[in-house]
Amino acid sequence: MKIHEYQAKQLLASYGIGSPEGYLAENAQEAYEAAVKLGGTCVVKAQIHSGGRGKAGGVKLVKSAQEAKEVSEKLLGSTLVTKQTGPEGKVVNKLFVTAAVDVEKEFYLSLTVDNDGAGLVIIASADGGTEIEEVAEKNPERIIKQPVSVMMGMKDYQIRAVADALGLPNELLKPFNAMMKNMYKLFMEKDCSLIEINPLVITGEGELCVLDAKVTFDDNAMFRHPDMALLRDIAEENPKEVEASKYDLNYIQLEGNIGCMVNGAGLAMATMDIIQSCGGRPANFLDVGGGATAEKVAGAFEILLSDSNVKAIMVNIFGGIMKCDIIAEGIVEAAKKLGVKVPLVVRLEGTNANLGKEILDKSGLDIISAGDIAEAARLSVARV
Ligand code: GDP
Ligand code: MG
Repeated sequence: MKIHEYQAKQLLASYGIGSPEGYLAENAQEAYEAAVKLGGTCVVKAQIHSGGRGKAGGVKLVKSAQEAKEVSEKLLGSTLVTKQTGPEGKVVNKLFVTAAVDVEKEFYLSLTVDNDGAGLVIIASADGGTEIEEVAEKNPERIIKQPVSVMMGMKDYQIRAVADALGLPNELLKPFNAMMKNMYKLFMEKDCSLIEINPLVITGEGELCVLDAKVTFDDNAMFRHPDMALLRDIAEENPKEVEASKYDLNYIQLEGNIGCMVNGAGLAMATMDIIQSCGGRPANFLDVGGGATAEKVAGAFEILLSDSNVKAIMVNIFGGIMKCDIIAEGIVEAAKKLGVKVPLVVRLEGTNANLGKEILDKSGLDIISAGDIAEAARLSVARV
């Protein structure tokens, strides 16, 4: 789960990592009042769940409260297209108005999960401000990676190694150490998957300062953090994915045109691969899970049917814990409600497969039956 910059900064502050004074503004008048409090000169920042706002015009330095108001009027309601939003962009509904800081030097700093190392990793670079992906591509040697064990905790020598590699001056070693320790504490206590500070800056006064912050939580741990779950902003999320989360489905929208309904993440991955290898493109990843009910399946099928990009649907079920007749019932229920206007290719195998096929046959739906996964993929690709 992602949160906004202003929320991430509040959370960091509660862990002793401060950032410049700032105020949330949901309309131009509030932005004006915030700018007055900050003495006129300030930075107006679009709050969307995406980085790269600066380059897209979503971060504006203004010289007066009046200018803050004018900039806010333009930004609010506008669609910001950044490198990370995709071509459709994101609508700006909120602004963060924050004190302008005199920047001497910008760094990149993050703490994230290192799957390969089965631990955490500090990633840092003296090339801050710009996107880290760009640095990784052009100057990979300028990226510092320091693994951190979750058994041992973050050690002083590890923090020191990062500070040295960044070339931090001696007088900042102590505050940097404190900041890293607090970041680690936050990461572990709140089950984060990423804390990113980009840029972390040295100000004109020679102090460390957090100018931008991103915090992402592990979705699988959200049940342990009802207070963090309150920070969710559904307006920032893909509406189909929000709908899917109501049914507790693992659904990710993709850019292709073959809708997939599969049980099990592994089979869903294999299904996407085989569609690709047959020359097609999946419209989504969808794992209905092991113990799905007919209602859940119907919800899933509705999401696929309501996606205008979907030109064919491939159902690929291997019934183990999941029973094929439950899947069939869900499909029929959703199809009756919405009608199926695209070719529907179905491969059912395993527990109650015959019962499932019978339900589908009796439903009067126009179904293209496939004997195995490869045939199902070929037929789906042929139909689009
Ligand atoms: P992002 O583009 O979405 O990552 O948004 P950031 O908050 O990182 O802002 C982009 C850039 O704007 C930063 O890298 C800074 O160079 C600049 N910036 C943001 N806030 C300030 C500020 O208070 N003072 C100065 N001088 N620059 C700022
Ligand atoms: Mg940034």
